[in-house]
This record gives sequence, structure tokens and C-alpha cells, in this order.
Amino acid sequence: MAFEGLGERLQSTMDRIKGKGKVTESDVKVMMREVRLALLEADVNFKVVKQFVNDVKERALGSDVMQSLTPGQQVIKIVQEELTSLMGGENQKINLAQKPPTVIMMVGLQGAGKTTTAGKLALHLRKKHNKRPLLVAGDIYRPAAIDQLQTVGKQIDIPVFSMGDQVKPEEIVENAMKHAKEEHLDTVIIDTAGRLHVDEALMNELKNVKELSNPDEIMLVVDSMTGQDAVNVAESFNELLDITGVTLTKLDGDTRGGAALSIRSVTEKPIKFIGVSEKMDGLEAFHPERMASRILGMGDVLSIIEKAQANVNEDEQKALEKKLKDSSFTLDDFLSQMDQVKTLGPLDDLLKMMPGANKIKGLDKMQFTGKEIDHVQAIIRSMTLEEREHPEKLNASRKKRIAKGSGRSLQEINRLLKQFNDMKKMMKQMTSGKRKGKNPFGGM
Ligand code: GDP
Repeated sequence: MAFEGLGERLQSTMDRIKGKGKVTESDVKVMMREVRLALLEADVNFKVVKQFVNDVKERALGSDVMQSLTPGQQVIKIVQEELTSLMGGENQKINLAQKPPTVIMMVGLQGAGKTTTAGKLALHLRKKHNKRPLLVAGDIYRPAAIDQLQTVGKQIDIPVFSMGDQVKPEEIVENAMKHAKEEHLDTVIIDTAGRLHVDEALMNELKNVKELSNPDEIMLVVDSMTGQDAVNVAESFNELLDITGVTLTKLDGDTRGGAALSIRSVTEKPIKFIGVSEKMDGLEAFHPERMASRILGMGDVLSIIEKAQANVNEDEQKALEKKLKDSSFTLDDFLSQMDQVKTLGPLDDLLKMMPGANKIKGLDKMQFTGKEIDHVQAIIRSMTLEEREHPEKLNASRKKRIAKGSGRSLQEINRLLKQFNDMKKMMKQMTSGKRKGKNPFGGM
């Protein structure tokens, strides 16, 4: 996983300062020396490192931190905030045109993941923004690039516009724009040619395509595995084309992460998406704050919640919220909630995103089979519908029957009933009064 080395180093540095009741200037200096080394080792651009270290140091040595009751924790908070701002602060969304069509031009070096990301983006825009995209095969030089785009298009059922490899890209783009209009396709995603290196001929061609298509988004695709090179490439493309956003691919690999931490600051252009697998659904919006928390081992609870919510349909969610509010949530509802937890995928993947998960030794080697959930479900399934709705009716003999039916012990049944009651109480508090919120499961 990306950032592993950097995360480990930063976390052990942070751990040393975390509990300190008093932080001296020399503590901060020692810490920042280690932070500096960790960042350089992760291949973060040296100018970026210098600025970062200065910023953190200045804030950490400020009197409000030194005099606070928890200076160690304050310093960590500063590191987290500065990492977030280094990566761009808030998530930046893709630019969409007010009036269709939206034109997105994909640019980048060969092998960066342009074609793959064009497909991923088309799928994302259809799913999340109800768009009707057209993929345009504008890379006429790389053998098989057109075939590859066509395969991608077929896979996700998105039309691909191609005129073969004997027509100039400028002409292809002009015709593609007309075609999109005729077919009422509101988003045109142009896959352009890549080279092994930035060269003048390529840049001129891209400039022409830009002029012709007047794109709302010029999305530079860079391979995070290439470290410093990714940053240099981003700088060149930005200078020549004035890009509007970056997608950083292959963050599922063991990249040291330097590119993610440097690109924004060097180009002043936002990283909008990250590629996290070769598959078409392997594209995620880039959230600097979550990434910073993940690097520092504070977990990424928001991504877990989003993952959960993606699996829940809105009507079900509304019905559930109503039940929570009027306390009519039953064991039967609990049962179906657990089915949803199961659809989130392997529990071990989820656990790794939890705060502090990286501190649990051997977690990566452990296997969570979801047995606990199966046991609880077996117990509930052995109840009658009436018992699921009115668990207070469960007397000793009914419980015995359920124990027999589910193959679980009486203690387990009692524990489940107690947990269910506690949970109901907690939910009542959360859904009434000040703490009124959405589904406390976060969709689970
Ligand atoms: P292009 O030359 O820029 O169009 O690059 P491609 O789209 O052909 O991608 C090059 C290779 O990188 C292909 O094998 C892709 O499957 C792979 N790839 C692209 N994005 C990702 C990603 O986010 N994660 C992983 N693991 N592989 C990726």
C-alpha cells in the first residue's frame, strides 16, 4: 500500500511526542529533523519539504502550543493540518460545463494510465452525475490504444468515437464533437496521445486539440510510482497546457507517495482523483484531509462510511431513519443491517482503515471471517417474527428453544439482547435532541 514507509516513520516520530506534557524547542527541532528525513525518503520534492518543515516548525513553536495543556497532541494536529494543506486542502471536484457538452481532455505520458482513467471517469460521471459520456479515441500513435479504448468502452457500456489511426487527432476531435451533439451525449472525454517523454510535437498537437475543443477540464494523468519524475512531468504539462486537474494513478501499488505530496505545491493544480486499481471502479475522489489522516495512522473513517453508503439505497435508508426515530427498529431490521455489513466486503479491508489499525500487530495477517455476524444472524433467524419485534417476550424457555435452534449458548443470546437494547437507547439519543443526525450506522 502507498505511503507505508512514510506513514510508519511519521507515526513513530509522532508517538514520541504525543504524550508529552511539556514540549521544548529542542523536542520540536528533533522531531522536525525526523519528519524532514521521512519526507525526503518518501521522494517528496526537496523544496516542498523545506517549506513544509518551516511552516510546521513556526506554528509548533508558537506560544499557544507550548503553553497548552497537551502540547504533544497540538503539534501532531499541526502536522496533520499542514499535510492536508500541502495536498490541497479540500477535495476539488471535476469541472462540469453549465451548458453541455462538458469536454474533458485526458493528457499524460504513455503508460501513465490515461486510457484506463478515461474509462473510469466516464463510468464515474454516469454513475454520480447522471452524465452520458462519449469516449474519443485521439491517440493514433500508440499501437493498440484505439482497441484498448474500445474494449474499455464495451466493458462499461459507454460509446467510443474513433476514426482509425490515419486521421489527424484535430480532425477526430472536431468530428467527435459533432457526433456527441447529434447523439445527445453531454460529456466528451478525449483520450490523447502520450509519449515516453514530453516533446514539442506532442505538445503542439495537444495545444491544437485544446484550442479546438475548448475543454472544461484538462486532466493530467500521472503515475505515482514514478516519484520525482511525476512531479517534473506535471510541471511541464502545466506550463504548456495550463492543466486544470490531476489524477494520480497506481496508488494501490507500493509507491512511496512523494508525488501525491509534491504535485499540488509545485504546480498549484489540484489532485482531483486517485487510481486505486486496474479495474473500472478503481477511481476515488482525492480528499487531502483523509489522506493526511491515513498517512498519520489516524484512520479514514469517512471513507468507510462512504463505502457503506454506496451500498445502501435511498429508500431503505429513509425507512431505516424513520424506524430509528420512532423507536420501531426491531431485531429483524438488525438482521438485514448485518447483511449489508457483509456486502461491504472482507472485514479485514475495512479494519485496516480504522484509526490505529496499523498499530495492531499482525492485523494484516489475520483473517476475519465474519463468523461473529453469522452467529448473531443465526440467533435472530431462530426467533419467530413476533419475538424479533418484541424481544421483551423472550422468557427462559423461549431462549432455550432459540439456543437449540441456532446452536449458540444462552449467554450469547443474552449478550445480543443486551447489546440490542443498549443500541436502541443510544440511537434514540442520537436521533432526538441536539445530536440529531443521520443514520447512526452511517448507512451500515
Ligand atoms: P496510457 O498509455 O496512459 O493510456 O496508460 P494505460 O491506461 O494503458 O495504463 C497503463 C497500465 O497501467 C495498464 O496496465 C493499466 O491497467 C494500469 N493502470 C492504470 N491505472 C491504474 C491504477 O490506478 N492502478 C493499477 N494497479 N494499475 C493501473
